[in-house]
Amino acid sequence: MKLKIVKGTRDLYGDDVERFQFLEDKAREVFSLYGYEEIRTPMFERTELFAHGVGQDTDIVGKEMFLLEDRRGRSMALRPEMTASVVRSIITDNHMQQATHRRFYYIGPMFRYEQPQKGRFRQFYQIGAEYFGVSTPDSDAELLLMLRQYFKKVDLNAVSFQLNTIGCQNPDCRPAFKKNLVDFLTVQKEYLCENCTRRIDTNPLRVLDCKEESCIAVTKDAPKIYEHVCEECGEHFSELRSILDDHGVVYTLNHKLVRGLDYYSRTVFEVYSDNLGAQNAAGGGGRYDSLFEVYGSPIIPALGFALGLDRLAMLIRLGEKKADGLFVIGHHRRMVNTLVSNCREAGYKTLYDPFQSSMKSQFRQANKANVSHVLILGDDELKEGIVSVKNMTTSTQTSVPIDRIIGHIESELSPER
Ligand SMILES: [Zn+2]
Ligand SMILES: [Zn+2]
Repeated sequence: MKLKIVKGTRDLYGDDVERFQFLEDKAREVFSLYGYEEIRTPMFERTELFAHGVGQDTDIVGKEMFLLEDRRGRSMALRPEMTASVVRSIITDNHMQQATHRRFYYIGPMFRYEQPQKGRFRQFYQIGAEYFGVSTPDSDAELLLMLRQYFKKVDLNAVSFQLNTIGCQNPDCRPAFKKNLVDFLTVQKEYLCENCTRRIDTNPLRVLDCKEESCIAVTKDAPKIYEHVCEECGEHFSELRSILDDHGVVYTLNHKLVRGLDYYSRTVFEVYSDNLGAQNAAGGGGRYDSLFEVYGSPIIPALGFALGLDRLAMLIRLGEKKADGLFVIGHHRRMVNTLVSNCREAGYKTLYDPFQSSMKSQFRQANKANVSHVLILGDDELKEGIVSVKNMTTSTQTSVPIDRIIGHIESELSPER
């Protein structure tokens, strides 16, 4: 049997894992400042959860979902995103009966089934947050402020947002705008790509974010939805903008930023950083006030965002690695083992050579391990009942009685703590 990793997947270790851990730690740190709690939902759910929540005719559900059949023939899906799962949890666990509002964040793998291509994985990672129960523009602003703070924390610079509102389902709001847009697009039909010619009837808003050049040229002059939403939606948007202005949040309006599904409402945004280049959003989000209705539950206002961890991990710079921990060198196996475990139990990362090779080779390993101190238990030291402690930064060596070694290490290391 020849072992092979599944196409489109990868193992993470070494620097990659450090990058992920850094991004995850900072997310936990920053998000908790805003009152977010972590939620961990199952990696698979019944397929219909996503089919309804993400939308039947989106690419995610239509072509890219990773489907499994259980032993009783029921269709399960590896989660393609997390919003539907978190919403499911809000409903099935009655979260909103105990609180007027809830804030959750998540970190974890998502799955898709598509032809693997460079930089796109079948198992990919996201960090995201969902905020339930509040419909005021403050909550939209809070999400953007949290994202800005997070990006600063992980050293991604010049954070900016693209912002749009797609209104609501009131007849004088998005539905009226759609009619307007359809009229505009119908006149220019011959210049649109094949997909968009079809979308005029099925999903005209999606023509706005088509990436075909001919379509981009047409929609440049299309009516702007943020100028045509109903009064309430217009107020929500202008209040959000003035809160963002108060906080010096950098954003541009982008009338082409849309969502194709009816349950999305009002605010839509994408987040950018100079480090990512102007073309690539690090993530995005918005309101989905009507998603709960899709699942037959009473309306709960909701909004959230998701960030692609794989891409962010490629962009951040890890700091220089500081020398850290101890390395015990010696040939008397029992003495070495005792010293190693004493140091570990005292709370110090401690390494040693499990093969007890020559002293020279052990020294080489200690150098490579980038530890701050090497503890030497050679024949001379054993005779005298001492340990030679070498500070790897200053190259100074001290003799310490073996029963006082932990105290000595503490005094050597504590000033930096
Ligand atoms: Zn509206
Ligand atoms: Zn198009």
